[in-house]
Amino acid sequence: MLPTLHEQFPLRGFNTFAVDVRARWFCRVHGADELAALAGDPRLDGLPRLVLGGGSNLLLTGDFDGLVIKVESAGLRDLGASGDAFHVEVGAGENWHATVERLLAMDRPGLENLALIPGDCGAAPIQNIGAYGLELAERFESLLAWDFETRQAVCMSASECDFGYRDSVFRHALADRRVILVVTLALPRQWQPVAGYADVAHELKARSVAQPTARDIFDAVVAIRRRKLPDPAVIGNAGSFFKNPIVSRDQHRALIAHHPSLVGYPLPGGRVKLAAAWLIDAAGLRGATRGRAGVYEKQALVLVNRGGATGAEILALAREVQEKVAEKFGIWLEPEPVIV
Ligand SMILES: Cc1cc2nc3c(=O)[nH]c(=O)nc-3n(C[C@H](O)[C@H](O)[C@H](O)COP(=O)(O)OP(=O)(O)OC[C@H]3O[C@@H](n4cnc5c(N)ncnc54)[C@H](O)[C@@H]3O)c2cc1C
Repeated sequence: MLPTLHEQFPLRGFNTFAVDVRARWFCRVHGADELAALAGDPRLDGLPRLVLGGGSNLLLTGDFDGLVIKVESAGLRDLGASGDAFHVEVGAGENWHATVERLLAMDRPGLENLALIPGDCGAAPIQNIGAYGLELAERFESLLAWDFETRQAVCMSASECDFGYRDSVFRHALADRRVILVVTLALPRQWQPVAGYADVAHELKARSVAQPTARDIFDAVVAIRRRKLPDPAVIGNAGSFFKNPIVSRDQHRALIAHHPSLVGYPLPGGRVKLAAAWLIDAAGLRGATRGRAGVYEKQALVLVNRGGATGAEILALAREVQEKVAEKFGIWLEPEPVIV
């Protein structure tokens, strides 16, 4: 059945930057039959599409002259255990954090390090969400997606998703082509805490927790995030605006020689992941304001809408950050949110 199509639909409440733009067409979908109906509608022929979850990893730079599809497939199903995992199926439109919390209450731990990441479950595979020592890929089994080209639903394994650091096939070859409807997770039957990440370790120590439960880690991550990150309900933002750049061992050595306090994390194979927040801070941009856009005072990786900023203003600030960091360190920062 064709979902209701809204024309000239305001998107301000549908993106966490709170950018005030409109979509030429907007609809809510819950399953493959509605997507099939959309694919056959002549009004939408040839128009660009934007699939939308919670709008927390997007920068909308202007009105969208196409169809915005808000995915609202719901439900959470425990599929039982096999091998070393508990299998759980979750609708793409379910809120991510609420799902993490619900699974914890169902005695299905394993996602607690990813607590409080805004957005929906369907978007989690798109950039292989990650935080505090864990990535979705480590808990992912498969997904069900609708393909606009073949006009069929397709099941995809982890290897077909081609997950990388804040990356997957959905940001490249399959961008805007597949709509994720259901995600199946594989949660460990023999749960072990992931508590090696420095912030988490410090927080647990401060709470005098020596042998953390999943709930302890959940509480620690929530507390850290509440302290460090701006709440989009209060100040518009999309979390980290830039990915942490990865450099070779030689490049790292050369940088350290000039900037001894440079923060980096060694990766397997000798490469080093640099803290983009440190680079932005050292370029003198933490707390900067340009028009109504700004660099967040407490975390330089986050760009914020200080009130009424346009997407173009935020993008101009992002470009300035990229240019100043490139000038000082010879590194071009890559944006994390999808720029539309
Ligand atoms: C305060 C804050 C903190 C954050 N912290 C983190 C963090 O720690 N780690 C992290 O990885 N991210 C973080 N993010 C970014 C963001 O929350 C995640 O990327 C999240 O998964 C985006 O979900 P969403 O539903 O809001 O996606 P949206 O912003 O709606 O969409 C993001 C992209 O996914 C696509 N998409 C969305 N849903 C679907 C679907 N069902 N099928 C196909 N494509 C789809 C969209 O087209 C778009 O390209 C943070 C954001 C904020 C605002």
